[in-house]
Amino acid sequence: MAEKSLSQRVALITGANKGIGFETARQLGRQGITVLIGSREKQRGQKAVDALRAEGLDARLVLLDVTNQATIEQAVAQIQREFGRLDILVNNAGILLERVSPADGEVENLRGTFETNVFGLFAVTKAFLPLLRKAPAGRIVNVSSALGSLSTMTDPHRLENKYLAYSASKAAVNMITIALGRELAGTRIKVNAAAPGYTATAMNNFSGTQTVAEGAIASVRLATLPDDGPTAGFLDAKGTVAW
Ligand code: NAP
Repeated sequence: MAEKSLSQRVALITGANKGIGFETARQLGRQGITVLIGSREKQRGQKAVDALRAEGLDARLVLLDVTNQATIEQAVAQIQREFGRLDILVNNAGILLERVSPADGEVENLRGTFETNVFGLFAVTKAFLPLLRKAPAGRIVNVSSALGSLSTMTDPHRLENKYLAYSASKAAVNMITIALGRELAGTRIKVNAAAPGYTATAMNNFSGTQTVAEGAIASVRLATLPDDGPTAGFLDAKGTVAW
């Protein structure tokens, strides 16, 4: 096994072929971190890798569909073989399926959304935990959303929620972050949830008000926290977000 020197950090970002995930990889790569571009489709992933390598960054492709356990296990085996550990896992892959009032929501939308945003995120995290434990300072970033904040969603000035499945899935992501973060608090691994803010990506037909560079700030910061940084927290680019 060709283990990387411990000073050369290795980060896996799921759903990194575009959007906030791609930009997170770019910003981590600029810090000298080896970035593994998680992509469920080879060509899209390779295009992203090529773009980052053209910028002089150490980017490599990892085929990974977070809803497909076989690809998760292949990714773990690949990273075990090539690096022997994983320093940073950014659980960024996510989907938004529905835009309807809660009463009109479909069970299938909830199921499909949870399959990727919650079950996929947990399956990937669980599978990579042994490799994260081998890192000197493991960091897990769960990309959540302000729409998953119970405080935000119960604000009396907020009139409607057209994203029931999505916001429920991100609330579940927050609870996974709390549960795992607290369990691992005595280890070298920190687990935090990131709120990117409303960012122009394919997920919202590029209607977001922030650039991807702004949207990636929270993920990058949580991925590179010092040892005295927070764990089991929920943060955006400005600081702590109310659960
Ligand atoms: P995006 O541009 O649509 O990117 C989503 C990424 O996730 C794509 O790379 C997509 O791959 C990937 N993905 C989807 N399902 C996957 C699966 N089963 N396995 C692996 N990869 C999968 O959206 P984005 O805005 O950058 O979203 C990134 C994260 O930020 C998400 O978790 C989202 O919920 C969160 N977020 C976004 C905003 C915002 O305003 N944009 C705000 C708050 C939170 P394909 O290209 O193959 O589809």
